[in-house]
Amino acid sequence: MIFSEDSEQAAVFLRKAVPKMIQHKIVPNPFNYTLWYAYFSMNFPELNRELDYMLDRFGTCPGSMSEKLFLKYVIGSDEDVESRKLLFQQAVAGIVDSLSESIDVTAKQSRDFSKALNDDIESLSSSAESTEVSSLLSNLSENANGLCRINEAFQGEMSKAQLEIQSLRQQLEESKEQANTDALTGLNNRRVFESLYLEFTNKEQQYDIALIMMDIDKFKIFNDTHGHVMGDQVLKVVGRLLKVECTEPVVAVRFGGEEFAILCPGLNASSAGKIAENLRVKLSRITLSNKRTGEKLPPVTASFGVSVTQGAELLHHLVERADKALYAAKESGRNRVQIFS
Ligand code: GH3
Ligand code: MG
Ligand code: MG
Repeated sequence: MIFSEDSEQAAVFLRKAVPKMIQHKIVPNPFNYTLWYAYFSMNFPELNRELDYMLDRFGTCPGSMSEKLFLKYVIGSDEDVESRKLLFQQAVAGIVDSLSESIDVTAKQSRDFSKALNDDIESLSSSAESTEVSSLLSNLSENANGLCRINEAFQGEMSKAQLEIQSLRQQLEESKEQANTDALTGLNNRRVFESLYLEFTNKEQQYDIALIMMDIDKFKIFNDTHGHVMGDQVLKVVGRLLKVECTEPVVAVRFGGEEFAILCPGLNASSAGKIAENLRVKLSRITLSNKRTGEKLPPVTASFGVSVTQGAELLHHLVERADKALYAAKESGRNRVQIFS
């Protein structure tokens, strides 16, 4: 976590940051919030120097510069591009959380303050005796109302910022989901497969994890005969089948091409073999047709290889054994399940 202040402290930084941003016409996007929040947190003295320099020189800080400064100071630029992107997403998600909270606190405090000020003036006015005092109070009241208007405008900015933050959060969620999902089948991708395996094996209580590798039979010929578009349809059908049949904790992912991997935490070889057999039968019974031409297509089948973890081991060892079993299933005629032995 980059910023560990509590929400009161975060609200203080934000209260300082927002007027400064308004004053210097700085666009209220997440980079800029973060930068100016960081500026007032005084956590990055070098960043403060660079930002002061930009304001001195240009009166503002251009967007492209904000992004550079963000990467340089908040993220640190030693990481490779992918890790940086991930760090960035995490950082923004964390910042978004603390900003949302701070904005709520700040907006409430501002409202309470304006109300108290007006109440005080009102009660003074009702007990004022001389006309001089009355006119002073009415001036004061006008000023207070002016302040209120500025305050309301500021709160308006705050609400806009909050909306932007909400939409950013949604975008982040969506981009996370996209990064984990295979676009064609809607299944999780290999990245999820790897991180799930790590998650399962990191648990204190160790248990067996079975793996099923599934590979569509003679798919090249299918593509050559019926076209790539129909091939894609088949992959979608397989994706749907896997989604319906693999329920938690069993997880299916598209491993790549026409290969799928199914992780079965807590299952032994024979239970995983039954899952594979069920998938094999159900896939072979699906009837497919070309919607455009009405042509009925031959059944699609797949072969399966099953392996089980041997103690704590790296994922690729488990995959290697499942692949060997899968190869044996292909060799012995396809459309079958082979358990590694
Ligand atoms: P085997 O039974 O031995 O597995 O034979 P196969 O033809 O399925 O295996 P091979 O590895 O020779 O060919 C895999 C084919 O899968 C070739 C490739 O065009 C097809 N394929 C991989 N990804 C996709 C995809 O996303 N869409 C389509 N339509 N085809 C794909
Ligand atoms: Mg293959
Ligand atoms: Mg194949």
